[in-house]
Amino acid sequence: MDDHQRISAKLSKFVPSLTLELKRKVAQRRAEGLPVYDFGLGETKGHLDERIRAAGEQAFREEHTMYTDPAGLPELRDAVLRWLNLTQHYTRDDVVVTVGAKQALFNVFLAVTNPADAVLFDAAPWVSYQPLAVTAYAFPVMVLPLGARAQGAKVTPADLIRNLDARPHAKLFLINNPCNPTAQLYSADEIEALLRICVERRIYFVLDRLYWRIVFDGRAYPEPRVDAETRPWLIQVDGMSKNFRRTGGMRIGWAVGPRDVIAAMVNLQSHYTSGPATPTQRAALAAIDRPYEADMVRELEAKRNLLLREAADMPHVTIWPTPATFYSFWDVTGCFGRRKPDGALLKTSDDVAKYLLESAGVATASGSAFMQPGFLRLSFATSNEDITAGMAAARKALGATN
Ligand code: PLP
Repeated sequence: MDDHQRISAKLSKFVPSLTLELKRKVAQRRAEGLPVYDFGLGETKGHLDERIRAAGEQAFREEHTMYTDPAGLPELRDAVLRWLNLTQHYTRDDVVVTVGAKQALFNVFLAVTNPADAVLFDAAPWVSYQPLAVTAYAFPVMVLPLGARAQGAKVTPADLIRNLDARPHAKLFLINNPCNPTAQLYSADEIEALLRICVERRIYFVLDRLYWRIVFDGRAYPEPRVDAETRPWLIQVDGMSKNFRRTGGMRIGWAVGPRDVIAAMVNLQSHYTSGPATPTQRAALAAIDRPYEADMVRELEAKRNLLLREAADMPHVTIWPTPATFYSFWDVTGCFGRRKPDGALLKTSDDVAKYLLESAGVATASGSAFMQPGFLRLSFATSNEDITAGMAAARKALGATN
């Protein structure tokens, strides 16, 4: 039997996620004793909040280790509505707790699409949207903005309408606000315009709001309109992974949406995960069922500012103050056509990322993983020392090109 018979045609085409490959390269450099400034991974650091840890410990001590409702602990679903300020509009039956936001997204695709239905993504889709959609037999389509792009890649109403006209089988439009990787933030008006089109066209508007607490410069998160008109078409996905320190591995996410869609998602996950682990659901409850403490957000904003200062006048790249998340998104097209000291040409963002890592120890994520091949994503959720030293190393390496 050859490999193609052993592994399904669909999965044999999958490539491992970019971040895993990055992790491997970074570990290899560290093992060789070479310097590494790691801007690659999208994960918050620091210590786990004491109350989250204590709730998890208590859950095990008190043996809360049996199966729960596959929709999630009822008290956690209630708390999700308070966390998202949605108690006026939904009840716990409109919430499903999932194994990370990933499973919530996968559930959505499986719950609402038939084979070959189109699912429309924002122009810089997060790396796993496409594999998840394809696994659900849906047909992923990137909505590419035609207008001039400035500091991101926002989809306009005209872009969405053009794509919907071309795709009569479109079932949903998925948008990530704020966005990994571009760190752009759609305004409330921009969200409203896109949501209104989805409602008019009777397609789902799926809002991945995983980074929604991490917005800077005193901005408020642009909440989507929830009322009788939008509720049948609006699905919000969120979770524990980004808005707290060190919680990505808790694997808790959730979705809030129309009851029939949520019921289908619960039905589905009752057959394959039965929901996330009960003790971690209890730990998540301790995290979200109290006023949000924004110290991590303030710290990340200071890191964004530090990076901007340290990267001022970085040769051949354009950098701007990103309004949200913990990413800086660099336009590196100015490096294309330049030569490394060994004479090799830099032609793509993959080349630039590789050059920065190999010559300066600066690990970044190439935009090609997000369909943005002229860009690099840098996570500044790292130490201040690494930001300062990493920017100096990147400046030296980029300055050495000609
Ligand atoms: N959506 C976006 C935009 C993400 O960046 C991530 C994780 O990096 C996810 C969804 C998946 O989140 P989780 O780790 O909760 O499954």
